[in-house]
Amino acid sequence: MKKMIIANLKMNLNNEEMKNYKQALESSGIDGLIICPSYVFLTYMKSDKFELCSQNGYAVDKGAFTGEISFYQLNSLGIKYSLIGHSERRHVFKETDEDMNMKMQSSLRNNITPILCVGETKEDRENNKTNEVLETQLNIALKDINLTNIIIAYEPVWAIGTGLIPTTDEINNTHLHIKKMLKESLNIDSKVLYGGSVNLSNIGDITALDNVDGVLIGGASNDPNNLIAMYNKM
Ligand code: PEP
Repeated sequence: MKKMIIANLKMNLNNEEMKNYKQALESSGIDGLIICPSYVFLTYMKSDKFELCSQNGYAVDKGAFTGEISFYQLNSLGIKYSLIGHSERRHVFKETDEDMNMKMQSSLRNNITPILCVGETKEDRENNKTNEVLETQLNIALKDINLTNIIIAYEPVWAIGTGLIPTTDEINNTHLHIKKMLKESLNIDSKVLYGGSVNLSNIGDITALDNVDGVLIGGASNDPNNLIAMYNKM
């Protein structure tokens, strides 16, 4: 079975580009991809050829929160997955581990599978704090929640959008550490995806790793033909 591929389109494509994107994926003959478009395109992008994932969500179901979109609303559109705690949410919008915990609870309550993104900064890595930082992020975000159906995405902050990437041994070992920690302290077996500068040349080696259950792709997924080529390399 193919491993998971999630395409995070961030705030990149406009209306016309999204139409071409959808058409390219639907005519490619492949299925099983998970696409994260901007909120505004979620309804338009509904398809029986791929699943949709939200890039974020707000933890309260409804109310006076101008500009926010709740997991409750996303569920009503039939959205199956949501990213939670993407590095850009943490670093640009200053969301905290405690925010992630509330979002995890809300997404699960609304039957949306959360994809919790965790990862160390360059400074953490240089100070040999990668495992410690990941453990803190996971412990707080997963505290007191019903852990039946979650996915973790390991995304080193320094690898996102930079072209830099850990070695395959480092990726495999960090994923193993995350899996062991989830099993030992929370008794769950979760898929762990890798994200950060995945491209056409490295996707084969990364997805061949035993402890990598799939990939989260940013920039390299903006071109649907490149995404299809990456899928075919797995
Ligand atoms: C991301 O933003 O989740 C990501 C992995 O980006 P990129 O592939 O561009 O590094």
